[in-house]
Amino acid sequence: MPGSLKTEAIVLRSIRYGEGDRVLHLYTPHRGRLSAIAKGARKARSRFGGRLEPFFRLDLVLYEGRGEMLTVTSAQTAAAHPRLRADGLALDTAARACDAVARLFEQGDPSPATYHLLANELALLDADPARGGAANQLAFRLKLLLAAGLAPHLGACASCGESDHLTAFSGAAGGVVCAACEGAGFALHEEAYAFLVEAMARPLAEAPTASERALRQAEHAIAETVEYHAHIRLRSAA
Ligand SMILES: [Zn+2]
Repeated sequence: MPGSLKTEAIVLRSIRYGEGDRVLHLYTPHRGRLSAIAKGARKARSRFGGRLEPFFRLDLVLYEGRGEMLTVTSAQTAAAHPRLRADGLALDTAARACDAVARLFEQGDPSPATYHLLANELALLDADPARGGAANQLAFRLKLLLAAGLAPHLGACASCGESDHLTAFSGAAGGVVCAACEGAGFALHEEAYAFLVEAMARPLAEAPTASERALRQAEHAIAETVEYHAHIRLRSAA
């Protein structure tokens, strides 16, 4: 039934369309991914101003007709994230975070936890743009996997349940594996293992850091998990 939809949303992408319009790719708490057209958004006196840009958090009223594309009726700024938008590192990290959300969640697959995680990530990058980079991005992705129900098994061997000698990671097994099951995975050094455990346990604001080698292994573990269980590839983390 056609009608109005009032929702908060984060702008994932904003694409020029036609003479003066924009098409927005949005992430919303209760509807997940949506696409909406903002008519006249690129005209000089548009009532939308400059707020239909990536990484804005908006309060929207959308008109939902019979098609897949909604129409933006009104847009108010909930958070503009001006410091994030002025910093190259923070912008790059925010873009990768939005891209990971868009790849991991199909349209029609809402996840309120993912919405709040992404809103939190953007707020943290705005409060402290220097926080951007690979360690932050990998911690974000681990929490994204948790929200998607794909969190890797880290407490014991994902193949046999052994709790000691966890020396490798296997995307196929779904987490860390012990020395006896190591054939199924790739070697995971202690520092990379500690990073995965701490990044999963701590709030995003207190995400750990690690050496470049450990971060590369952590990224490999996350990438394998996503490829085996969601059949998608993420962009590199940094
Ligand atoms: Zn095992």
